[in-house]
Amino acid sequence: MDKLSPTIENYLSLMYVLERDKEPVIGVRLAQLLSVTPPTVTNTLKRMVRDGLITMDKDGTRLTKAGKQSARTVVRRHMLTEWMMARILPWSKLHQEAHHLEHAISAEVETALFEEMGHPQTCPHGNPLPGAEDAVSAWIPVTETSPNDVVVIKRIHELAEYNLELLVFLEGKGLVTGAEVMVREVLPFNQTVTLEIHGQIVTLGFASAQHLFVELRT
Ligand SMILES: [Zn+2]
Ligand SMILES: [Zn+2]
Repeated sequence: MDKLSPTIENYLSLMYVLERDKEPVIGVRLAQLLSVTPPTVTNTLKRMVRDGLITMDKDGTRLTKAGKQSARTVVRRHMLTEWMMARILPWSKLHQEAHHLEHAISAEVETALFEEMGHPQTCPHGNPLPGAEDAVSAWIPVTETSPNDVVVIKRIHELAEYNLELLVFLEGKGLVTGAEVMVREVLPFNQTVTLEIHGQIVTLGFASAQHLFVELRT
């Protein structure tokens, strides 16, 4: 297959994540996450159907076998690029910067990075490299924890990586992968979770908190 454009690669990686998590792949959602207009999404999706990357019918939009294969490569290169820059950039900036660079990563560089980084199973935000989904399956959203649970933050979901403001906020509070946190309150009626980190109290709405996956410290 010909080299895909960065735009197409971005659509592929997002659709891969949505499909993996069995979330609906709909135009409005793509438009919102990719910061483009719905008509732009429609045009791009038409090109992707023409190029055999996706199918669209009444049941929705799906990656073809070829589309999925390309998507896995893009996601993998994206995550390895994040690791490459983890030594020089703040954690909150990695995703955005990797999005610019990932399209230029060759198979050779991809392999070299994977070796150099020690065969990582996840990206610096804890999201699984394609094929390594089992490595993250035991982690639960912090919204499903209970008061007084001591937890370690393991993963900030890919969809939250698209939200730079949220990442900067989390990083500013120390709520990054590897951080140990005490759960103070989980209030479903109020849609809030209150956490304590380094003696500081942080309250998150469920919309953000559902993207934080943790491991219980026993
Ligand atoms: Zn990312
Ligand atoms: Zn990441």
